[in-house]
Amino acid sequence: MTYDSDNIFAKILRDEIPSTRVYEDADTIAFMDIMPRSDGHVLVVPKTPCRNMLDATAEQMAAVMKTVQLMSRALMVAFEADGITLQQFNETAGGQEVFHLHFHVLARHEGDRLGAPGKMGDQVVISQNADKIRASILDL
Ligand code: AMP
Repeated sequence: MTYDSDNIFAKILRDEIPSTRVYEDADTIAFMDIMPRSDGHVLVVPKTPCRNMLDATAEQMAAVMKTVQLMSRALMVAFEADGITLQQFNETAGGQEVFHLHFHVLARHEGDRLGAPGKMGDQVVISQNADKIRASILDL
């Protein structure tokens, strides 16, 4: 399996298509999922190419996990969450649809259920949620 540099997250990384970014460091970016399954649904990706966890280097994994932890803490604050769910899919059989490594970070509340997959979010609400996350990062 080879990396396709025309995948949608590669285009987001090159700013060829828009995204609602909430965080960036030297090695990773985090942006809002356009089909959020909870209020705080963030995707974390490495800046360098890899399809998924199976071809990622230890350095890519370490950089991504560092940002996943930071986003998890920010979501707990931003949404007064009770917990965090991580999702990460590898290859089509594993449920992956976009072939650039990414982790889903989802804010959860006691007793809630994740929204249905594949449903476009309201961009105004997504932007408001992104503002809350950015503000929470500054407070960490
Ligand atoms: P998966 O590869 O199964 O983890 O699914 C890809 C995820 O990317 C889904 O949750 C989509 O809602 C999300 N997604 C697809 N296109 C975009 C985009 N342009 N901006 C943000 N999220 C996206």
